[in-house]
Amino acid sequence: MKTLILGAGYAGLAAATKLKPTPGLDPVLIEQNPYHVFETRLHEAAAHNTKVTLPLQPLLKGTGVKLDLGRITSVDLDRKVVSIKDGRELSYDTLVVALGSVTNFYRIPGLADHATELKELADADEIYNFVNRVYSGDYQECRNIVVGGAGLTGVELVTELAQRNEQLSKARGLPKFEIYLVEAGPKILPVLDDNLRNKAQRTLEEYGIHILVGHRLMEAGPDRVTVQTQTGEQKEIEAGKIIWTGGIQAADFLQGEKLQRGPANRVVVDEYLRIPEYPEVFVVGDMALATDPRNQKPVPTTAQHAGQQGRLTGKNLLRLSRGEKLEAYEPSTMGEFVSLGGLMAVGWMKLPWNQKLAMTGGMAHVMKRASEWRWRASIGEPL
Ligand SMILES: Cc1cc2nc3c(=O)[nH]c(=O)nc-3n(C[C@H](O)[C@H](O)[C@H](O)COP(=O)(O)OP(=O)(O)OC[C@H]3O[C@@H](n4cnc5c(N)ncnc54)[C@H](O)[C@@H]3O)c2cc1C
Repeated sequence: MKTLILGAGYAGLAAATKLKPTPGLDPVLIEQNPYHVFETRLHEAAAHNTKVTLPLQPLLKGTGVKLDLGRITSVDLDRKVVSIKDGRELSYDTLVVALGSVTNFYRIPGLADHATELKELADADEIYNFVNRVYSGDYQECRNIVVGGAGLTGVELVTELAQRNEQLSKARGLPKFEIYLVEAGPKILPVLDDNLRNKAQRTLEEYGIHILVGHRLMEAGPDRVTVQTQTGEQKEIEAGKIIWTGGIQAADFLQGEKLQRGPANRVVVDEYLRIPEYPEVFVVGDMALATDPRNQKPVPTTAQHAGQQGRLTGKNLLRLSRGEKLEAYEPSTMGEFVSLGGLMAVGWMKLPWNQKLAMTGGMAHVMKRASEWRWRASIGEPL
């Protein structure tokens, strides 16, 4: 059974590292980078150049999975062929697609051309280099950073940048740059309860971040953005660097006559995370539109759910190879933590009987770190 796993992010790597050498399974992991990126820590790389990668090869030891480094260009579900940029076409019997998401610019004029994303290591490097240039002493242009989108990624990024701003300003004796957080919705971090959100909001205010909620980003240019308030008033904000974290959509690699897509281009999957019309294909992580059977709501696009889906799929591949029945996916949200720069965070942890324990400060930071340690342990990172 020729098995291809596409992508070594949270979902794909979780699936691959659950495998064991199994006669007839023959799994290959195809990934464009020789390393796994802790995407949930990219904001730290952007502000502080923190190392957020792990080499893949040692993680696959003892799994029977071969690593094939290549950039996937498309997947033809009808022909059962994966095309690689170097010209190869790989066929499969079973496929796991875990290629993550791409930034959604919502066709806002100029945004895709002028904004930096925060999806890859190269994006983090670009932001890090900008901040260094701003503090180089001979920088004459606009120093403002405008971040669009006040969800998890945007808030984690602005707080980390604010910390770096304070450090560099003290160290170099130069004034701080201004940070604007622009959000079309009425509040930051809409996924959090009010008390945690208010705490996060106060932290952002203490950093001096300009929080523009209820401001829709209308247009981006090389050195400014235009925003519009809910009353229709338009303003321009000068920007040395524009960063867009305001939306994602599933990466668009799959082609198939019978393929169904949902909102944000996500691929509709069944309770086993397979495409119903192509049952030999599992889709996991940000690309998949899985439904929570308890409330019929779409499962959120987060690393913790991507990891759960990947682990289950790894186990289901082993079951398939033994001719056993597949296990259905039951999502569970263990908690949610948002880092607010340095050792500060807010969030909540799930307790029995559907209770939530809210946390702020250092304890929340430790919980956030603990989720990363759990992830590292789950993929068998050699200590
Ligand atoms: C700054 C930031 C902070 C975040 N914080 C959190 C958080 O605190 N908690 C949380 O739960 N979630 C968080 N998220 C969201 C989380 O990172 C995603 O939900 C998660 O990465 C999705 O996992 P995935 O496996 O679907 O995709 P990814 O982790 O993005 O993996 C996709 C993989 O596919 C590879 N790939 C893509 N295209 C190709 C190609 N053409 N050819 C070959 N390989 C390819 C990529 O290199 C990558 O390895 C954050 C995201 C960001 C950007």
